[in-house]
Amino acid sequence: MPQDLGVRVRIAVASGKGGTGKTTIAVSLASALADDGERVTYVDCDVEEPNGHVFLGPTFERTENVEVPVPSIDAARCTACGRCVEVCEFHALALVDGGVLAFPELCHGCGGCTLVCPEGAITEVPRALGVIEEGTAGRLRFMRGRLTVGEAMSTPVIRTLKKQLPTDGFVILDSPPGTSCPVIETLKDVDHLLLVTEPTPFGLNDLELAVGTARTLGLSMSAVINRRDAGDTGVQEYLEREGIDVWLGIPHDRAVAEAYARGVLPAAEVPGYAEGIRSLVEEVVRLRTEEESIR
Ligand code: SF4
Ligand code: SF4
Repeated sequence: MPQDLGVRVRIAVASGKGGTGKTTIAVSLASALADDGERVTYVDCDVEEPNGHVFLGPTFERTENVEVPVPSIDAARCTACGRCVEVCEFHALALVDGGVLAFPELCHGCGGCTLVCPEGAITEVPRALGVIEEGTAGRLRFMRGRLTVGEAMSTPVIRTLKKQLPTDGFVILDSPPGTSCPVIETLKDVDHLLLVTEPTPFGLNDLELAVGTARTLGLSMSAVINRRDAGDTGVQEYLEREGIDVWLGIPHDRAVAEAYARGVLPAAEVPGYAEGIRSLVEEVVRLRTEEESIR
């Protein structure tokens, strides 16, 4: 029986590196919850390379530009006093040949230079970083950020996306890989982190980094071990030492990779995969019950 208790449960699905099957788990979990009649929003925070749409086929209803205000210098008013250059901690401004040269791609839009300019020589102009897109994919709400090609600053796009998360139901956040600033922005304020990993020495190294980041943020977490029988026992032993529950172990199956390559959810055609995702669904529903009891 579907429940809608009005409780928002935000679950981030992340991995220390790309290629571990993170997106496959995120979209499969979101789809299975929606199939149960739950209110679910899938949020693709991997804004540099969003690919959840390949599996879920959303129809977009709303697009919003994400912009950062960058300085435009009026050379006629500028006296080359250098105050704006001094205040910019991102080195986005430089004094060159008696004038100020701006590097918009380094600008974080803090507005400091405009505030300190004694001549009123700086105005702010918008620079596009990316877009937020929202729509539906079957029973799912679908949201994603998409970074402009060639753009490096993905964190403001993720920040804008997260400000718009729904206030109820399950919210499944598909994190960028790694442990850098965009990942931390994604993981901030989530209720639980699901770490997708592989039982290899490389997988263990990246998992340790991801767990360290999650511990710093004070997150509760559990793990999914993909291709659990294709490596060694190091990851399993590490997770036990760290007290991190394994919610799901997925055996190596070439059919999963083939389904992924065709943009098909593995649960639709790989025997056993759907059962594994069902066990994940049971865990997150239990998590919601716990969340409800402490709010
Ligand atoms: S807005 Fe901030 S980051 Fe951008 S150039 Fe001015 S001081 Fe630097
Ligand atoms: S603070 Fe204003 S006047 Fe001074 S260098 Fe910068 S733009 Fe020119």
